[in-house]
Amino acid sequence: MIMVLILFFSEAFERVCIVSITRFKPCVKSDEKDNVLDKKTEERTIKTVIHELGHTFGLHHCENYKCVMFFSNQISDTDNKSDDFCERCKKLLKINIKNELPGL
Ligand SMILES: [Zn+2]
Ligand SMILES: [Zn+2]
Repeated sequence: MIMVLILFFSEAFERVCIVSITRFKPCVKSDEKDNVLDKKTEERTIKTVIHELGHTFGLHHCENYKCVMFFSNQISDTDNKSDDFCERCKKLLKINIKNELPGL
């Protein structure tokens, strides 16, 4: 399988998603034992993980640039969007989860 790297490596396949933060150029504090990510890298990682999880529950990219499901063509897109779903995506997510996980 060949993956195309545009900004960062992230992809969702049905119930599996893979996120790598390599392209975020994380600033890991070398003096810390736990390899703590800097705040900006942490925020970008959280947004990307939420975005990919949205795909695993059937969401597509959103036109709302503040929505976490907005496609990040460049790192500023990731920085400008929130870590939350817009109202439309929240509704779709609820429907999809209800349909696929009826016990919840
Ligand atoms: Zn996406
Ligand atoms: Zn949305």
